[in-house]
Amino acid sequence: MHTFEFVRPENPAAAIATAAKAKTAQQGADVRFVAGGTTLIDLMKLNVETPARLIDINRLPLDKIETTTDGGLKIGATVRNSDLAHHATVQRDYAVLSQALLSGATAQLRNMATTAGNLLQRTRCMYFRDTAMPCNKREPGTGCPAITGSNRTLAIFGTSVHCIATNPSDMCVAMAALEAIIHVQGPKGTRAIPIGDFHLLPGSTPNRETMLEPGDLITHVTLPPPRPGSKQVYLKLRDRASYEFALASAAVVITIAGGKVTQARIALGGVGTKPWRSPEAEAALVGKPADAANFRRAAEAAMRNAKPQSENGFKIELAKRCLTHALKMATTA
Ligand SMILES: Cc1cc2nc3c(=O)[nH]c(=O)nc-3n(C[C@H](O)[C@H](O)[C@H](O)COP(=O)(O)OP(=O)(O)OC[C@H]3O[C@@H](n4cnc5c(N)ncnc54)[C@H](O)[C@@H]3O)c2cc1C
Ligand code: SF4
Repeated sequence: MHTFEFVRPENPAAAIATAAKAKTAQQGADVRFVAGGTTLIDLMKLNVETPARLIDINRLPLDKIETTTDGGLKIGATVRNSDLAHHATVQRDYAVLSQALLSGATAQLRNMATTAGNLLQRTRCMYFRDTAMPCNKREPGTGCPAITGSNRTLAIFGTSVHCIATNPSDMCVAMAALEAIIHVQGPKGTRAIPIGDFHLLPGSTPNRETMLEPGDLITHVTLPPPRPGSKQVYLKLRDRASYEFALASAAVVITIAGGKVTQARIALGGVGTKPWRSPEAEAALVGKPADAANFRRAAEAAMRNAKPQSENGFKIELAKRCLTHALKMATTA
């Protein structure tokens, strides 16, 4: 691993001022915040990330989970994934988030991994993690070997001719269905970014993954008040039962009255270049009887615009079954 300077600021303003000196907050950043380190340090060992400065944010007062005045939830940036998953309010009112977090990684990793770090985890595309290979995300303009190479685990939504990498997060899929807001403090002040806008599609700049600019510190995430009577499920399908990323996953937040769906928020994981909200599935469900035929129709609608790669066409049927089953689980629980 290359050498780097390690700094421990006492307050957010000092952390932001130091990070604002970076040329970019995207791939190739020369200054990085470090929280749990479970993504960043891995990538530094592989020389995929080579920051000259690491800013340890673990001492900053960003580790609280609190209810908001409107009845929602405020989750600090350095709240550990395990603390969030086991928090009583999260388990009661935002069960989809708890389930998604507990389906990720391992207990040891979840004890270190943080809310903001999870939002910013990087793709597991094998070419991205191998500096002997070209990769447009790691080194813009060098090409995308995954398109003609190994792409079984990669995306079928939101791809471009420059990158087809999947966003690997489980937490973000649940947060997309819960319509989370990401709160950022930067050199120019604070911003509140809906999670649907936070991650960028790869387009011609796959090295640019989020809205973040140099100095931007994620301070917390807010969730809107829970939907009264909503049923929630996160279902993750993968090659083995633990310590594995999703091939397809579904986050479902659904409300039913008189046997019909009155509200639905659906997001998919393992299939998109970003956490993939499905307005198509939501529209197909609302107003319809909550039954197996309509759940399958919603899953068909969700996958209608999927664009498979050479090795991952199986994800289309897998994701349909995943969503159909998640809807059944949510409505029979
Ligand atoms: C073996 C393994 C298996 C895994 N399996 C899964 C899985 O199944 N599902 C899943 O969802 N995830 C999985 N993960 C990923 C894991 O969830 C992430 O590594 C973790 O959430 C990252 O959090 P962190 O705090 O360790 O981030 P760090 O590594 O500390 O940081 C990650 C990035 O976020 C930036 N950052 C951190 N905090 C802030 C902030 N407040 N503001 C701005 N930038 C910030 C850092 O600069 C860095 O670029 C796995 C990881 C490993 C190593
Ligand atoms: S899919 Fe994206 S991350 Fe993977 S090799 Fe292609 S450009 Fe790199």
